[in-house]
Amino acid sequence: MHCPRCKHEDTGVIDSRLSEEGRAVRRRRECPKCDHRFTTFERQELSSLIVSKRDGTREPYSRTKLERGIWIACTKRPVTQKDIDRMLSELEEKWGKNKAEVESTTIGSDVMRALAKLDKVAYIRFASVHREFKDVEEFKNELGKLFT
Ligand SMILES: [Zn+2]
Repeated sequence: MHCPRCKHEDTGVIDSRLSEEGRAVRRRRECPKCDHRFTTFERQELSSLIVSKRDGTREPYSRTKLERGIWIACTKRPVTQKDIDRMLSELEEKWGKNKAEVESTTIGSDVMRALAKLDKVAYIRFASVHREFKDVEEFKNELGKLFT
């Protein structure tokens, strides 16, 4: 793990603890060169979960990939990494429960619902990319539901 400040290649772990009910390891690291301290998270991916897509193909679930999509919707919004971590951990628990497979449409609508609670603008951005609204009316209906 290199230092994010000076790019020194070897940093030491000064503290390490479990978080998110044991599914992630939080490490405090320190750079021996510039004394910069930073935190890393190592998270266990739900590698066994398979996503079935609308076109009938399947691929392994990737939190990293989903998170990237969510961050695009949350750009410059008051949403924190912590909000997204919590949201995804809760949803992953739901998706992985007694099932080896989850539909991509389920992932999309669950994330939309969670984002709607977190930030309305992020919700609309995410929805406009991930949901194929049939027409403007349908999109307006969806927006209407948010503000009533
Ligand atoms: Zn450094």
